[in-house]
This record gives sequence, C-alpha cells and structure tokens, in this order.
Amino acid sequence: MTNHIVKIIQSFYITHDVKCFMVEKPENYDFILGQATEVSINLPGWEDKLRPFTFTNLRDKKYLEFMIKIYRDHDGVTNKLGGINAGAELILHDVFGAIQFKEPGVFIAAGAGITPFIAIFRDLYKQIKLYGNRLIYNNKTSDDVLMDVELRKMLKTDYTKVFTREAVIGFTEKRIDRNFLIENISNFGQHFYVCGPSDFVANISKHLLELGVTSETLVVEE
Ligand SMILES: Cc1cc2nc3c(=O)[nH]c(=O)nc-3n(C[C@H](O)[C@H](O)[C@H](O)COP(=O)(O)OP(=O)(O)OC[C@H]3O[C@@H](n4cnc5c(N)ncnc54)[C@H](O)[C@@H]3O)c2cc1C
Repeated sequence: MTNHIVKIIQSFYITHDVKCFMVEKPENYDFILGQATEVSINLPGWEDKLRPFTFTNLRDKKYLEFMIKIYRDHDGVTNKLGGINAGAELILHDVFGAIQFKEPGVFIAAGAGITPFIAIFRDLYKQIKLYGNRLIYNNKTSDDVLMDVELRKMLKTDYTKVFTREAVIGFTEKRIDRNFLIENISNFGQHFYVCGPSDFVANISKHLLELGVTSETLVVEE
C-alpha cells in the first residue's frame, strides 16, 4: 500500500497522558471501523519508526483522528509525538486490524485499548443501533478514562467502569477476573470484543473461552 504524508491539523491532550491528533485524510482513504494504521513521524531519524494506532473518527469525516497514549518514560515514538503539534507531518503506512463489529455483544477494554471501540460505538450510535451492546472499561484510575462523557452519552447504563487503583465512591474498584465476569455477565453465548495491553487481552480471552465463549464469537487483535 502507498504511504501517505499527512499534516497534523490539531492536537490536544484529552487526559494527563493521552493526546488526540486530528490529521489530514488522503483522498479516497478508507478503513474498517476498529482498524489501525502504522504511523511514523516525518522527521529525520523517525520516518522508519512505525507504530500502530487506531482510527477513532467515523469514515465519512474529512480528517483522521487518533488518540495516543504518550509514554514519557523512554525516547520512543509516542514520547516524540508528545512534543509534536499542528503543522508537523506524520507518515501513514499499512492499514490493518482484526477488530471490527460483527454482532451486538460485550466490549471489554483496558486503557488506550478503548480506541477501536470508540470508532465502532460512534458508528452504531449514529445509526441508532448501539442498544444491546455493553462496555466494561478497565483503567488504573478515573483520570485515565478516555472519552468518558461521550461514552456515557452513547451507552448510558450499558457502561461499567472498573478501576484497579482507586477508591472512589460510586465506582467499581476491582480487577476484571474470572469471578468478575461470572458476576457481571449472564450470557456467554453472545459476541465478546477485547482490546488492551497484550497480557490483559490474553488473560480475559482465556477466562471467556473457559466460560463458553467460542473463537468465532471472540473478537481480538491477532
Ligand atoms: C493494532 C494496534 C492498535 C493500537 N492502537 C493504539 C491507539 O489507538 N492508541 C494508543 O495509544 N496505542 C495504540 N496501540 C499501542 C501503541 O502502538 C504503542 O503504545 C506504541 O507503539 C508505543 O510506541 P513507543 O515507541 O512510544 O513505545 P515502544 O518503544 O514501542 O514501547 C512500548 C511499550 O514498552 C515500554 N517500554 C519500551 N522501552 C522502554 C524503556 N526503555 N523504558 C521504559 N518503558 C519502555 C513502554 O512503556 C510501552 O509500554 C496500538 C497497538 C496495536 C497493536
């Protein structure tokens, strides 16, 4: 696939360490909601450092949007993106990704793993087809939740936040483990979508498969 050099139109932090980038959309550029593209920075020494990020915008938008967690603890691509703003250029490489909407079900995300689900929920909400889907969203603290207001507006009561490090009244404070899944999900015959750090995805997938979810109804990044 052809690489595309695109300008950043706008960038701003949406949490303490997640930055939203709106970038130019090349002509006739398309993707499936939930997919990602490999991105590099068009600066000397950074062009060949490719990292995957997920589109969060709807396909009919005139721009592309990414929500990117910035790791400031080492000199990687996201740390560099932390210091890059409107006018700078990114290079978009191949579009890929196995996550896409199939049937209504339960979406389980951790941290920035919510990004493919944001794209999918925005689309279903716009089509008035979101009802019947549920989100369980795991974060360390409430400060780490991405797009909380929009998720609440779209999903209403079908939205459960789980915090692993914080005691806040009104929120569930526990880990998503086998017991959590048994207590919170009554039907393992529906579709499940899991996205987050690889150990989170492996762990939740293992529990779900043991509880009766099949490889056909479990949607994860391969
Ligand atoms: C299909 C897909 C889609 C994705 N979509 C998104 C998205 O939409 N938004 C998003 O935020 N992320 C997304 N990611 C994750 C994202 O690609 C990574 O966070 C990114 O590649 C990190 O790049 P980096 O160069 O900053 O870090 P890398 O150098 O690649 O390091 C990645 C990880 O290792 C740790 N690490 C590595 N070296 C060091 C070191 N020396 N010291 C300390 N820690 C270290 C980092 O803390 C980090 O956890 C996606 C991943 C995949 C596979």
